[in-house]
Amino acid sequence: MAVREILTYPDPRLRERAEPVADPAAPEVQQLIQDLADTMYDAPGVGLAATQLGVPLRVAVTDTRWRDEEGVRDLHVWINPEILSREGETEFEEGCLSVPGVFEHVKRAARITLRWQDAEGAVHTADFEDFQAVALQHEFDHLDGRLFIDLLPPVKQKLLKKRLRKQKRRREAGA
Ligand SMILES: [Zn+2]
Repeated sequence: MAVREILTYPDPRLRERAEPVADPAAPEVQQLIQDLADTMYDAPGVGLAATQLGVPLRVAVTDTRWRDEEGVRDLHVWINPEILSREGETEFEEGCLSVPGVFEHVKRAARITLRWQDAEGAVHTADFEDFQAVALQHEFDHLDGRLFIDLLPPVKQKLLKKRLRKQKRRREAGA
C-alpha cells in the first residue's frame, strides 16, 4: 500500500497537461493505479487523477459508491479517457482533494459518451449520466490541468483563489 501526497492548489503541477499512456500494462502504470487507489481510499475521496500526485499521465481512478455503501468497493480505472460527446446540463456541489475545504456548485454536461482503456489496455465505449458523468468530467479535467474552481463565475473565482493562495502560504509558514 502506497498512500502518496496529494498536490494542492496553487501547485503548478496541477496545471500540467498529462500525456497519453502508451502501455497500460507496464509495471510503472500498474503501480501508479495501485497508488492512486490507495491514496483515494485513504483521503477519502471518490476520484483521483494522476496529475494530483504530480504524475503527468492520463490515468484516473473513481469509486462513486464506496462511501455510500459500507464495505463495497467498486474501483474503476480510466486510462487515456476521451469524452466523445456531451449532452444536457446538470449541477452538483463539487469538492476536490487538491482544493481542500472548498465545496461549490458547478455546471457540467448531464450525459457523456466516453472512450477509455482499462488496466489491461482493452478499449471500451459507454455512456454515463448524472453523478457518475460529473465525477468523470471532474477527474478528466485534471488531466488537462483544469480544476473545478476554474468553472466558477469570474468574480467568485478570483476571490476564492486569492483566499486559497493565502491559506496555503499560511499552512506552509506554519509547517
Ligand atoms: Zn479533483
